[in-house]
Amino acid sequence: GEGMTQTVRDRLRHCPDMERALGRLHMQRGGPRDMQAIARGLEVATHLHGVFLHLDAASLPEYLAAIGRQAGEHRRMVEELSRALQDELPMLARDGGFVRAGYHAALDEFRMLQTESKRLIAALQARYAGETGIATLKIKPNNVLGYYIEITRKHEHKVPEGFIHRQTMKDALRYTTTELAELEQKIGEAADRALKLELEIFQTLCERIGEYAPLIVKAARALAALDVYAALAELASVQRYVRPVVDDGMAFSITGGRHPVVEKAMEKTGERFIGNACALGGKERLWLLTGPNMAGKSTFLRQNALIAVLAQMGSFVPAESAHIGVVDKLFSRVGAADDLARGRSTFMVEMVETATILAQAGERSLVILDEIGRGTATFDGLSIAWAVVEHLHNAIRCRGLFATHYHELTHLAETLSSLACYTVRVREWQGKVVFLHEVAAGTADKSYGIHVARLAGLPSAVLGRARQVLKILEDQDNSPASGLTASGLPLFSGNNGVDSPRMALPEPELPEALQQIMVLLEGCDPDRMSPREAHDLLYRIKEMAEVG
Ligand code: ATP
Repeated sequence: GEGMTQTVRDRLRHCPDMERALGRLHMQRGGPRDMQAIARGLEVATHLHGVFLHLDAASLPEYLAAIGRQAGEHRRMVEELSRALQDELPMLARDGGFVRAGYHAALDEFRMLQTESKRLIAALQARYAGETGIATLKIKPNNVLGYYIEITRKHEHKVPEGFIHRQTMKDALRYTTTELAELEQKIGEAADRALKLELEIFQTLCERIGEYAPLIVKAARALAALDVYAALAELASVQRYVRPVVDDGMAFSITGGRHPVVEKAMEKTGERFIGNACALGGKERLWLLTGPNMAGKSTFLRQNALIAVLAQMGSFVPAESAHIGVVDKLFSRVGAADDLARGRSTFMVEMVETATILAQAGERSLVILDEIGRGTATFDGLSIAWAVVEHLHNAIRCRGLFATHYHELTHLAETLSSLACYTVRVREWQGKVVFLHEVAAGTADKSYGIHVARLAGLPSAVLGRARQVLKILEDQDNSPASGLTASGLPLFSGNNGVDSPRMALPEPELPEALQQIMVLLEGCDPDRMSPREAHDLLYRIKEMAEVG
């Protein structure tokens, strides 16, 4: 229950990383604090086991049951380490001072000798001060001289016979005596022997831990597993996740699905994430998702992929319900991670990734493709996207989501029996566009790209001009000569439109300059442009417009 999750999470919060500590000790690079970490970790493990004691032992997963069986040994180990180690520990063993008093008699004795000698030095200082009549006489140590007697210059004439001069400072003089040197040697010897002993003790403890290592690793892994499950459990309850059904079927049926990260981010701004259903299978095995910019296409694609991953790793999922037939491989082509440094253009990367997916995806896979083909000229991109959809549908036959701005692709639904068109809805209201973030059957009629460009702050002159260009292009589009499909004519025609598609594209009728501008605009992605790039583009467009 929730109470148990909380207890587990609270305990784990202060649990050190035992495996790392163990690794360092094993590599001879560990220190006393690593031993303490192991002691604390084992302690947490035994405590946590106690939390599960009231449950039926047979129902406990093996990793937890194992902690239970080893609890006694863990406790002995914790006790041994706690008995040996101080509460406050130095970083390095060679700094010494980490073994607890009372743990080792000889060590205690050396330490007593050290304190005793220090006491004797304090007494010596008092005696010298008295004998010389120099009240300010001090005995101090430093790294170069060791212990020395310091006297200010004005008392120089009072320095007795037995003082051996060591160093002259600006205002002071430093001396030693045979007595002081002897004492100092005693302190040094005691310190050396104490440190040597501590290092021996450290080594012995290291060996003990080494012998015990397999059980430490087991306990650490158990805690790690508990950590993951407890975190997922808390997430499930706080974020209202549900238990998915995962079976051998071919279902992919989500209702009220949400994107866990986008939803979380929106919580902060007080906005509400709109849940969306996704049902891939039968006549709708492959969804073709169109919709305006900023509508939520990418979010929808990714949330479904995430839900599949979460479900199959044994987690609850951010949805109202989820039924998933095991996905053998999940493929995604989202965003464009430039790989220019490795000599690949953005478009090349996109194509390489797409090629990999087409080569490796199978019928049981889930494929998520976000705007394939947008990195090249419109017709090239559209043609590639077209062929990829056909291949996914006819050859691979996997479950998949395909988001695109090429509305022409929606005509594929007429020929591909398991392709379904979905769109992310928007509403136009008082000249404004309202994003509803609702996924529904159908196709988008517009992209509202210019609207989004305005939201992004493109200068109004550019926006105005873009609207003019768009108008011209759309009018072109609707002309009978146009093969672009506003009139319902398929872009490609061939035998049943599936095999060997043949291009039937119109000759562009736009003035040369406008065509070039169009290509420029098509090729650019305002969302990804720096202000500088946008500015440069604007100059180029203006130049072209003047020439034309
Ligand atoms: P583009 O076509 O421009 O790439 P897109 O359709 O892929 O856009 P997303 O990037 O998925 O759009 O979403 C844009 C923004 O809309 C997100 O950052 C998020 O803030 C919001 N959003 C997306 N989906 C939802 C949803 N279901 N509920 C609420 N807000 C959402």
